[in-house]
Amino acid sequence: MTTKRYLPPSALNSFLEGLPQAVSISTIGKSVKGLPISLLTIGNGKTKILMWSQMHGNESTTTRALLDFIPWFLKATQKHLQKTFTLSVILQLNPDGAKAYTRLNANGVDLNRDAIDLTQPESVVLQELYQEINPDYCLNLHGQRTIFSAGKMGKTASLSFLAPSADLERSITPSRKKAMHLIVALKRALEKELPEQVGRYDDAFNPNCVGDKFTQMGTPTILFEAGHVPEDYQREITRKYIFESYKTLLYTLFSNDFEYTTNEYFDIPENAKDYVDLIVSGVTIKSNDESFVEQELAIQYEERLEKNEVIFVPVMQFFASQAPVKAHKKIRIPKGLKNKEISFEKGKIIQKDVFERFLSI
Ligand SMILES: [Zn+2]
Repeated sequence: MTTKRYLPPSALNSFLEGLPQAVSISTIGKSVKGLPISLLTIGNGKTKILMWSQMHGNESTTTRALLDFIPWFLKATQKHLQKTFTLSVILQLNPDGAKAYTRLNANGVDLNRDAIDLTQPESVVLQELYQEINPDYCLNLHGQRTIFSAGKMGKTASLSFLAPSADLERSITPSRKKAMHLIVALKRALEKELPEQVGRYDDAFNPNCVGDKFTQMGTPTILFEAGHVPEDYQREITRKYIFESYKTLLYTLFSNDFEYTTNEYFDIPENAKDYVDLIVSGVTIKSNDESFVEQELAIQYEERLEKNEVIFVPVMQFFASQAPVKAHKKIRIPKGLKNKEISFEKGKIIQKDVFERFLSI
């Protein structure tokens, strides 16, 4: 069983079995298909942090970082943190989606658009837990596609954060302000290793998003988006940075030293959708019986679950003499090379032999 992008609920069993007795594990509800939703309660401090991952089933990076973070938190050297914090952790809020490798739950609902209506059992579980715990902070843990840049035509967004809005005016309420200051602390800690690769997610208010709702209810909430590092399609490098960010968050809260300005939060470049995975240039494109020479072909990988592995299928997006986007990888086909004609159709998968020929250049 792979422990990388595909993380079905069964892959967590050995981790859960290995946890010491100091961690309380309870089943707090069931998914649409009847899979248990588990809550881990760790530490016994006054400051309560509620964190949930994989409400989108195919976003496993933040969960994998929790598998690093929880044993770290439990170490004897972290006694001071264990006495300060009580962590309530849901590793997989959407276990059906985690099993099927889908964003949506088994009823095809986006759980991060169900915070008001609460039509899904998984949404009810989170809402009831929130009310029961009344947390001081919430962490809403997600993964981000490869299409995002940190700022318009900026570098790839390797990590993005958001202090969600609590109203249509996007007011800086006291809880939102606290979340913004914490994000600045995270950004400062990351920027040496990831210069210009930390982004700020769009803050348009949507009360159906869980983070917006909890912020509105007065809890500082931080959205984490595990993004892309070039060539790291398994997201093992991103996993490491997310782990570091969890640690930084606790250190920052522990030292209670995060009086920054909200300006510094707004200085974090906002995410733009400016990337594709691959651009192949120097190709001849056939489209609608016409031939276009010296073109750039933009390709995006589609993630598919096959035999318990996530595979990346190359799909044609568009072509242009100069593609108006950036790419994580660029290949130029040398002049004079034969068989460089491609029949274009948007959304079509590129044939395996053609694609392998590109990659061998
Ligand atoms: Zn998500």
